[in-house]
Amino acid sequence: MKAAVLVGPERIEVKEVPLPELGPGMILIRVSACGVCGSDVHMWKAGAGWSDEPIPDFHMGHEFCGVVVDPGDSRFAVGDRVTFWANMYCGRCDMCRAGQEHLCREVGGRNYIGFVCNGAYAEYFAGPARYAYKLPDTVSDVAAALIDPLMVAYHAVKHSSLRLHGRVLVVGSGIIAQLMGHLAKKAGASFLAMSKINDNQLGIAREIGDFDCYIDGSASDRAARYHEAAPGGFDVVFEAVGRPESLAACLEAVRPGGEIVAVGNSVTPEIPFSLNSLVLNEVRLSGSVSCTRKEFEETIDLIATGFVKPERFVTDIIGLDGLQEALQKQEKSVPGLLKSVVKP
Ligand SMILES: [Zn+2]
Ligand SMILES: [Zn+2]
Repeated sequence: MKAAVLVGPERIEVKEVPLPELGPGMILIRVSACGVCGSDVHMWKAGAGWSDEPIPDFHMGHEFCGVVVDPGDSRFAVGDRVTFWANMYCGRCDMCRAGQEHLCREVGGRNYIGFVCNGAYAEYFAGPARYAYKLPDTVSDVAAALIDPLMVAYHAVKHSSLRLHGRVLVVGSGIIAQLMGHLAKKAGASFLAMSKINDNQLGIAREIGDFDCYIDGSASDRAARYHEAAPGGFDVVFEAVGRPESLAACLEAVRPGGEIVAVGNSVTPEIPFSLNSLVLNEVRLSGSVSCTRKEFEETIDLIATGFVKPERFVTDIIGLDGLQEALQKQEKSVPGLLKSVVKP
């Protein structure tokens, strides 16, 4: 089969590789679509996945769906359309047993399909059937490739303190930021703003029209601009960048007693911030990652029922041979690009 192999730092090559082997409990799918994620850019730059042992012909891809061609000994049948939840939780630890599979002790923020094992930037993918979910006919292949970022946004908004009439700021302009804004508006935000540093990714956001205003997060008087937009400060601020200046922006924008939900993964191991503006204003700072298994199913349902139409956020549909360029474009944040989906 063909696979888009990560052959070195910033180098993807489409190569002929052996079909993945089917172990016990696994299914083989013909991949229909796979979303290109910001975390793929990090691995692409490093030229390696996260596994301790090198993986032959390593290819990424963790936001995908496909059609079952070999169900192995699973409950699935040939022809079933499925998506995989990349979070390879153990199902046995205290977190898993409490329904907090995203916090599984054995996942530890790294045990994901396409990170520590081969993913779906290939014609075929084989993986454990227990991480696969049947897709309703009302969820298109391209929509299914956006379940991953949508579940992140859904979990973050659902667990925030947002209530009807709340004023919300999203710091960041990427796909997760836009999906969080989209869901926050649907969840009852009366006023929704985005803090952004350029307009490169805003075409679709402006078209959809969820955001009431866009604020330049690089302006020296940004704090004044936040408070002009939401006098007294925002009730909930979603951080979707993961940099010192974006967390500082959140602290400037949130109202006393408000909440900052940190979603962006930081590239550096540590981020300094003003502890006193958190303590003295009783601001709550919460982290948010992935979602629970139940919320993964609910995310599929959000699309199946038409509550969210994630295809609207897709700007580029490409083949395996377009992945190298898509990652280059994503790294540079070229104008017009928001979300690429690979159809192998
Ligand atoms: Zn992802
Ligand atoms: Zn577990």
